[in-house]
Amino acid sequence: EAAQKNGHIVMIPFMAQGHIIPFLQLARQIQHKTTFNITIANTPLNVQYLRSALSSTSPQQIRLAELHFNSTQHGLPPNIENTEKLPLSLIGKLFKSSLSLEAPLRSLISQITEEEGYPPLCLISDVFLGWVNNVATSLGIRNLCFTTCGAYGTLAYISIWSNLPHRKTDSDEFWVPGFPQSYRFHRTQLHKFLRQADGTDEWSQFFIPAIALSMKSDGWICNTVEEMEPLGLQLLRKYLQSPVWTVGPLLPPTALKGSKHRAGKESGIALEACMEWLDLKDENSVVYVSFGSQNTISASQMMALAEGLERSGKSFVWVIRPPVGFNMNGEFREEWLPKGFEERMRDTKRGLLVHKWGPQLEILSHKSTGVFLSHCGWNSVLESLGHGVPMIGWPLAAEQAYNVKMLVEEMGVAVELTRTVETIITVEQVKKVIDIVMDQEGQGKEMKEKANEIAAHMRDATTENGEEKGSSVRAMDDLVTTILS
Ligand code: UDP
Repeated sequence: EAAQKNGHIVMIPFMAQGHIIPFLQLARQIQHKTTFNITIANTPLNVQYLRSALSSTSPQQIRLAELHFNSTQHGLPPNIENTEKLPLSLIGKLFKSSLSLEAPLRSLISQITEEEGYPPLCLISDVFLGWVNNVATSLGIRNLCFTTCGAYGTLAYISIWSNLPHRKTDSDEFWVPGFPQSYRFHRTQLHKFLRQADGTDEWSQFFIPAIALSMKSDGWICNTVEEMEPLGLQLLRKYLQSPVWTVGPLLPPTALKGSKHRAGKESGIALEACMEWLDLKDENSVVYVSFGSQNTISASQMMALAEGLERSGKSFVWVIRPPVGFNMNGEFREEWLPKGFEERMRDTKRGLLVHKWGPQLEILSHKSTGVFLSHCGWNSVLESLGHGVPMIGWPLAAEQAYNVKMLVEEMGVAVELTRTVETIITVEQVKKVIDIVMDQEGQGKEMKEKANEIAAHMRDATTENGEEKGSSVRAMDDLVTTILS
C-alpha cells in the first residue's frame, strides 16, 4: 500500500514565486497521500519565504533545506534571490545563478543518504533547472520534471527554445515542431529575448541545455487538468515521449499567497474594502485588470488602458503598478495616468484602483466580476477559469502568448487585446474588447458558458468521493505509485 511505505522526495523549484508556490502545493498534495519525507530545497531567502508560508497555514511535515547562495557572486544585488523585485535586465543573471545550486544540492543528497541509509526516491525539479537531471542520473535517482505552466504553453515554450523555428524563416509566421502542421505562431508571440535568440546568446546558452536535460527526466508533472486542454496534453506527451501527470489545478490558498498581508501593506486598500466595493455592483458587471506579480505595461499603454476603461462605461478593479522608471506617487504620474483619473473613478465609484497588489482570488470569486483582463500567466488563467471568468488576454512575457493562443483558438474563453509591452494600443481597441467579452448575449455569453464548463471540469478533476475520483486525483495516485515503483 503506497501510503505505508517510506522514502524521501526532494523538490527544487526555480527561484520565482510563480514556481515556488505551485511546488509547495504539489508537496502538500503528495504529502497528503503518502508518508514520504518531503524536502523543498532552495536558496536561503526563498526558504525563509517558504517557512512563513508554511507557518501561516496548518502545520505540515514538509522540510525545508537551504542551499548555499550568494547573490552578489552572480552579479545580482545583495540579498536578491527571486525574480520578484528584480528588473528584467537582471533576470538572465538569476537564471544563470541557479546553476550554482548544483554543488549544495549534491551535499544535501549525501546528507540525506547518510542519515536515512538510502538515497531519496525521487528529485522533482523545475523545468528550468535541467542540471538536476545530471545530479539524479549520476546518483541513480529518479528525476521528474514539474512544469508550473499548462501543457500547451509548455510545449510551445520548450519546442521554440529547442528548435528556434523563427530563425528558419523570413516570414513573421512559423510552424512550431510538436504542433499540427497547419498551426502558425507569430513572431510577436515571442518574448524579446527569444525573438533575438540565435543559439549563441546568453539566454540560449541557458535555456537550450536546461530544456534538453529536463527532457531526459523520467516524466513530467503538469499543473493542469486533463479535460481542460486535451490537445495540449496529447501533443506534449507525443513530443516528450514520456508520461505527463496532470495534477492541477494547484492553486495557492489565499493565506499562502500573502494577499491579505500584502493588500494591507502595499496597496493601502484592505480586502474588506475591495469586497464592499464589489458588493455594490451588479453580477458579472466588473472588469478586473491585473498583469500578475512582476510585469508592467508602458506609460503610453497605461494611458490608453485607463482611458479605454473610462470610456467603456463599465466598472473595473485595476491593480496598478507604475511603468518601469516611475513611482506610484511620483511627480510624473500624469505621464502614465490621465489627470485626475483616480479621483474621478473614486468619486463616481466607477473604478477601484488597487496599488501594486490585490486580493486576486477573492476578486475572481466575487459574483460581480465578469471578465479578467490579464497577462495570462498560468496561475491567473487557472484562477480565472476556475471561477468561470472569461478573459481578455494581453500577454507580456514567458509562455503567456501561447496560453492566450490556446484560450482563444482551442477553448473560446478569451479575446486577445494586444501583445507585449512594446505595442501601441488605442482607446477604441480597449473599449471594443471589453464590449465583446461583457456582451451578455453574443460572443460574450458563449465565452462565459465555456468558462463555466472549464470551471466544472476543474472541480470534477479534483473530486474525491470514495471510489469516485476525478482525473487529477487519479493522476496523483498514479504519480505516487510510479515514484514507489
Ligand atoms: N497575484 C495576486 N495579486 C496581485 C497580482 C498577482 O494575488 O495583485 C497572484 C495571482 O493570484 C497568481 C499569482 O500572483 O496566483 C500570479 O501568477 P501568474 O502565473 O498569473 O503570473 P506571474 O506573476 O507569474 O507573471
